[in-house]
Amino acid sequence: MFTHSHDSQHLIVLDRDQHVVQTLTEYAREHKIQGGVLTGIGALKDAELGYYELHKKDYIRKTFRDEDFELLALNGNVSLRDGAPYVHVHTALGRADFSVIGGHLFEARVAVTAEIFLTPFGIMPERSFQPHLGLQTITRCRL
Ligand code: ZN
Repeated sequence: MFTHSHDSQHLIVLDRDQHVVQTLTEYAREHKIQGGVLTGIGALKDAELGYYELHKKDYIRKTFRDEDFELLALNGNVSLRDGAPYVHVHTALGRADFSVIGGHLFEARVAVTAEIFLTPFGIMPERSFQPHLGLQTITRCRL
């Protein structure tokens, strides 16, 4: 993994086979980043995606194996959940036939590389559980 930070901007380049969400979460915790925006491109594999069904208050989960995907878009944020940095990421993944799948990214591994920029906020968004949604959403910010 190659990382570089300058003027509070972080470039995180993940290596082949690294877990994306786990590594970004560890990075945010190590660097005490409690709020920020994530954006990235690259190529992924073994992607576990989610689609949230509000009426069930649960995710449909599906893992896509045995193919590599272009990481067309990784968008997400870092917030505080239960007092610790939490990485929330959505993604669009491109297939060899140029079709696209996407969703909430539970986890994936790097197929080739992942070039991710993390820009910290000057604020700390905090999540709390919303019973009517069945999720922890951002409900306030601390300075
Ligand atoms: Zn999500």
